[in-house]
This record gives sequence, structure tokens and C-alpha cells, in this order.
Amino acid sequence: MTTEKLYQEDVYLKSCQATVLKVISKEQLISEFKEQMALFPKETLAADQKCCCLVLDKTVFFPEGGGQPSDQGTINNSSVLHVAIDDNTATIYHLVSSDQFQAGQNVDLNINWPWRFQNMQRHCGEHILSGVIYHLWEGVNRGFHMGENYMTIDIDLSHTSGSDYLTMEQLVEAQNMTNRIIWENLPVVTHHFKTKDEALESQIKLRKPLAIDKDITIVTVGHTDNPADSVACCGTHPQATGQVGLLKIYKCEKNKYMTRIYFDSGVKAMNHIQKQSEAFDEIAYRLSASTSDIVQKLDTLCAHLDEEKEKVAGLTSLHLSQIAQDIMEKLLALENDKQRSFQFFSINCQGVLNSKDLQRLSKILLSKAGFAHNIVIYLANDQDIKSTAVILSKDYDCGTLIKDARKLAIDITGGGRGQSGQLQGTVDAINLFMEFINGGKSIEG
Ligand SMILES: [Zn+2]
Repeated sequence: MTTEKLYQEDVYLKSCQATVLKVISKEQLISEFKEQMALFPKETLAADQKCCCLVLDKTVFFPEGGGQPSDQGTINNSSVLHVAIDDNTATIYHLVSSDQFQAGQNVDLNINWPWRFQNMQRHCGEHILSGVIYHLWEGVNRGFHMGENYMTIDIDLSHTSGSDYLTMEQLVEAQNMTNRIIWENLPVVTHHFKTKDEALESQIKLRKPLAIDKDITIVTVGHTDNPADSVACCGTHPQATGQVGLLKIYKCEKNKYMTRIYFDSGVKAMNHIQKQSEAFDEIAYRLSASTSDIVQKLDTLCAHLDEEKEKVAGLTSLHLSQIAQDIMEKLLALENDKQRSFQFFSINCQGVLNSKDLQRLSKILLSKAGFAHNIVIYLANDQDIKSTAVILSKDYDCGTLIKDARKLAIDITGGGRGQSGQLQGTVDAINLFMEFINGGKSIEG
């Protein structure tokens, strides 16, 4: 049951009428037509989604393929959720958001044109860039991905005598040449061949050897005798390169032995550049900078920030040393019989100190020569649902104390070993823990 592909004959056709040849209900898809069901993304067949699958005598809807997503649009008034092709039978399946269709019915098909045109621009941009990289450095495009926010291609140079990877300078050169080809408004021609032999007889020089044996479409950019690119592709492309508008390379990175290039073209590239431009303008405004001095102003700001960070670190160290000294003085003033029980010290952090500073404070205290006390230090911060505490002890194994507290269903996390331990819990849980260790004679020695 072959579907006539009107999008191949006229890529600018936005609507048509067709006859429904077959309706597969959602229940039939799930039970009998598992091969067809596998053609659709799982999310389009969600449990609460009313739908059915239509086979038509002809269609303007491009089915997902060649790295290009499925067309969107409507059949009568129902949304088209996904369109897929069975390559063995050349049957195109339309998944629609309704179960009110019958075989023999005449239906109106309308595609979402902005979506299709954007995909045509992107696909064609990818062809031109791949062709340029092939002509300049013999780089072979081994992988193509058309994502929501960018496209990627993976360029293989391993068979060449030069470097395995492309540099950003080379990519700027490729970008410039691609845009020149776009602005020359060269023809983009699709040639359809029933068999591989027919395609080979056409003598069109291909960037990549043919990987399929039948129903072959070759897309040529530029003049056929000396094309900027020619490759087999089932996607949709504008009739001339000018409609691609522009191509922008965003970045590149090493991907195994290849160079992965992130880029976009047409409306998508324009929107990306617009967003970047708005962000740049906002940053320039806040820095009172212009394009020529923005980097210098940013460097000055970063250097200033580093200086301030260093100052804050110095002041924090000083503050912690003073707190440690206060604690030691209070401990040394205790009478002998109190020195064996736990003392609690609430550190007023005032939003300045955090749990890492508490750790640093505990290290300072432990490093004091002859530390010979049992204490718990904690941050006094009413706004925190979780409270942090550090336990230091000359007499008890802190890890064991924390474990025993947990056995009594005190809801704290953390642990420790030997002289120190750290724990976190709600303020109530920390209070319970402190009550527990104050009366903790059962776990003594
Ligand atoms: Zn293509």
C-alpha cells in the first residue's frame, strides 16, 4: 500500500485532499499492528491520548527520516501527532488525535508550514556545511543530529594526512564559505531514482557512497557538473540556497576521534543570535561597557571579586580563631568536675558562617595543644530547617555516640570516628541529641 509522496514532487505544497485507505485504531495498534506501533515515539501513544493511525492514498506530510523530524499539522480538524514511513512497503502512517475516521473518507491535510520551512532551512544548511568541510579538508560527516536548540555533525578526518580534529579557525572559514554559498542563491535540485544502478548511471558525483538500493533521492546544491554538495537524502530542502538565510557555528568539541560541530541555520540560527545579542546588551548595560571594552571591564570586575574573596577568607579565618579562643577560655574556666560532661556552644553565624566554617572551627579547636574536653558546637540559625553540629570529645568515640543516638530514633544524619563527628538534623533532633549525650552515662567508656 504505497503512499504517493506529494512533498517530494512539490516541497512547497502546504495542503491537499486525500482519501483514507485504512484506519488502524489505537487498540489494533497495541494488539495486532506492533510493527506500525514501533514507528511512533512512545509519548505519542500515551494512555490518555485518544488517537488512531491513518493510511492515505497521498500525503503532504513528511515522515520522520534522514535526521529530519516528522511534519506537524492537521487532518480535518485533528492534530497530527507523528508521521512515519515503513521503508519496506513505502507506506506512510499518520497518527492523529482522534478516533473518528473511516476508510473511504475524503480528508483535508494541512501542514504546519513554519515548522516545515524551518526544517528545510536546517537540513539544507547542514548539507552545505558538510559539503564545504568535505571540499576543504576531506572531512566526512559520520553523524547528524537535529535537536531542539541546535544541530550537530561529527566530522571524521582520520583518513587524511592532517590533524584528526578541526580548529575553531577552520570552522570560521567553513562558516564563511557556507554563507557565501547561501547568498549566491544556488539551485537545490532533488533527483529521484528507482534503483541504485539508475542513480549511478546519472554520473552525479556524491560526497558519500550510496547506502540504499532503491527509491533513492539525491540532493544537489549548485550546478550538477560542479556541485557545492551532492548526497543521497530523503529530507525536504528549499529550491535555492538563499532560502536557508544564514548558518552559524556555535562551538565544536572532540568526540572520540571526530570533531562534533554545534550549529544551526535559518530561523533557528537567527533566533539564537537574537537571544545572545539581548544577553550581551544586558551585560554591557550593567557593566556600562561597549563592545570594544566589555572584556576589559569584565576582567577588572573579576580581579576585584578575587580581591574581595581573599579579604572575606582572611576575615573569616580571624573570626573563627577568635571564636575558638573564646571557647577554650570558657572551657578552661570550668571546675574540674564539669570538664568530663559535654558543653554546648552555639555559634551565632549571622548568615556569614556556614557548615564548612563549622568544620574549620572544629579543626582549629582540635589542633589546640592538649585539647581535653567534650563539646558540641552548632550554628544558631533559626531560618535553617536543618541544623548542623560538630561534636568533639576527649572521652568518647563520636561515631559510636551518633550511632547510639540513631538507635534511639533520634533523626540525625552524619557520623564520625574517634575524637570528632559531625551531624545534621532538624533543630528539634539536634536538641534531642544533646539531651541524649548529656545523660549519656550508659555509653561511657
Ligand atoms: Zn537533506
